[in-house]
Formats: sequence, C-alpha cells, structure tokens
Amino acid sequence: MIPLVKPYIAPREQMMPAVEKILYSGYIAEGQEVYDFEDELKQFVGNNKLLALQSGTAALHIALSLLEIGAGDEVISTAMTAEPTNTTIALTGAKIVWGDVDERTGLMDAASVEHKITERTKAIVVVHYAGMVCDMDAFNRISTKYQIPIIEDAAHSFGSRYDGKVIGSNSRFTCYSFQAIKQMTTVDGGAIAFIREEDVEPARKLRWFGLDKKVSRLNNDITRAGYKYGMNNVTAAIGRVQLQSIPSVLNRYIENGKYFDQVLKDVPGVTLIPYYENTEPSYWLYTMKVEHRKDFIRRMEDAGITASTLHHRSDTHSVFAESKCELPGLDKFYREFVHIPCGWWVSDEDREKIAEAIKKGW
Ligand SMILES: *Cc1c(COP(=O)(O)O)cnc(C)c1O
Repeated sequence: MIPLVKPYIAPREQMMPAVEKILYSGYIAEGQEVYDFEDELKQFVGNNKLLALQSGTAALHIALSLLEIGAGDEVISTAMTAEPTNTTIALTGAKIVWGDVDERTGLMDAASVEHKITERTKAIVVVHYAGMVCDMDAFNRISTKYQIPIIEDAAHSFGSRYDGKVIGSNSRFTCYSFQAIKQMTTVDGGAIAFIREEDVEPARKLRWFGLDKKVSRLNNDITRAGYKYGMNNVTAAIGRVQLQSIPSVLNRYIENGKYFDQVLKDVPGVTLIPYYENTEPSYWLYTMKVEHRKDFIRRMEDAGITASTLHHRSDTHSVFAESKCELPGLDKFYREFVHIPCGWWVSDEDREKIAEAIKKGW
C-alpha cells in the first residue's frame, strides 16, 4: 500500500552521530543545540523572531496566552482542521465561533469570518489545511480593518508560501508543528514565529514556567505563570539534521502535487481545488473532491493506494457543543473531499500508478 503519510527521517549516517553526540554530552535539556536549531529555522522561515517549542499545540497555546484570551472572549476558528487548533482555544475558556469554509477549498472563508466578528472577538485562527494556504489577502484586510490579530496554524504547511515567502512573517503569530507525520518531524516539536519584537520575550518566559532563563534561578521572579513548553537539545539535534534535507523533501511534495494538479484536471468525477491568489501550497496531503467518495476510497485500496479523509470535523465534538451552528460550506466540502498520497515517498512510478487508477474510474 502507498501510505498517505510517512515520517521522513534523514539517513542514519547523518542522524545517529548528531543525536549520539548530544545524548552523551552531559547536557540534554534546553541549551545551545536548541538555540542553534532556532537560528537555522529562522533562516529557513525568513523571520528572526521565532522560538522552538515542544509541539505545535504548545505554539498555539502560547499565542492565545499572549493575547490574554479567556472566559468571555470569542475566537473565530475553523472546524476543518485537526483537533489541537480548537482544544487549545477551549483550554483558555474562550468561546469558539466557527467560521464557515469556502466549499471549493475547505479553507476558512474570509467573508464568513467577517460576518461573525463581534466586540468580543479577540483573535482569528486560520489553518492552512493540508498545506494549502488561506486567502491571506482577504484575512489581512479583515485583521487591519477590525484590529483583530491572526494566529496562523501552519502545522500542515511548513514550506507553503504566501506572497512569495515561506509562511511565517505575515501574521502576529505563526505556529508550526514537527510532530511525527508533518512535512518535517523532530519526533515531536514545534515553533512559533512573531512579527512583533515585544511578543518574543514574554513568549520565551511562558515556555518555561514564567522564569527568565537569562537570570539566575535565585534572582528570578515569576510575574505570570507559564508552561513547560520548551524544546530539548536531543529534539533540536534531530531537527538540525532534518532541516538539512527539508528543501529537497518539500520539493518532492510540491513536484508530486503539481503533477496531480496537471494530470487529474479533466478526470470525470474529480474536482480539483483552486489555490488562492498569492499562495503556493506545499501539498502535505494532496486534496481534491470526488463523487461517490466511499467507492473511490475502496477502489484506491484495491489498487494499493491509501485514500482517506484523515481528519474529523471539529464541530461534532461534545466539548465544542456551545459553538454549534450552520456551516453549509463545510457540509458540502466535507461530503466530497479526499486525500491521496503525494509526499517524498511517492516515486514517479507511484504517482503514475495513482493517476492511472483514478483515470480508470470507480
Ligand atoms: C499536528 C497539528 C497541530 C498540533 O501539533 P502538535 O505538534 O502535534 O502538537 C495543530 N494543528 C494542526 C492543524 C495539526 O495538524
């Protein structure tokens, strides 16, 4: 079976010496290796205001905490995502208000979001689902017009681009995940990028109980309780090795994605997804819409190809019951969308096999 997701781990000869060196160095907690990883990540993202963290979930939680979001506040978010986008909002005590999605793309629809803004709206969380990028031209306009900060959940879109640049220097916060199945994995890990200098130091404290690492433990004074969300040197060592391969790994996702964009465009029963102006997907999962999805998935399975929806819409969870509302765009998209493999492990031969299987019909 060609799997839908598969962790890329750099070759043993590169990875093992780097990890072994740190493991037996006598210093495995957050230290120089983490700061070096951060520096290399800053280069890749093109933003020098960035912190490495334990997970993408930690990044989202820190962003919401920096905005001091809590009970009585509203955060507009999408149900078309993985759960942590929304469980982190729930943890703050704020109410989630669902923005509907654009039925053509599955990405949150800017017009729907604007419609749902109230005086209690404290943030908008946009998710670049499956590596596709939201209509940031429109979201930027809304953010400026209503003075509401945007948190970009870029967990699926490491290396996707907006306005010609890698995602990570557009909104107040951009959150990355290096969890096992994301484009780049450090086993578990994450990062947050900022555009405001004044967000960096408070975030740095929040990632370590509220303590200031630059001041000795005895002279520290916690003014705001933080979390234990930092990265450690072992994870960072893995990340530094992974980062060396990431341009070519991402390239393979993108080449395969563009191949499918071309060869599947006139196939009966398939509707391809249009990408927004100024955006370039990194194709974490190739996403499209198909008629008779169950039959499609079964036929792909017979051909040795995993096709799946992967995520479950968030608004059906009991914990988000008070947010329930009509989402006609999501209903439509959710009935038809499907993912097919397009990552680094999909060879030229594999992708031809996938395209042929789809063209045969189901
Ligand atoms: C994976 C993921 C996260 C959380 O990242 P972790 O590193 O697993 O904590 C957040 N949002 C989305 C959309 C994700 O897929």
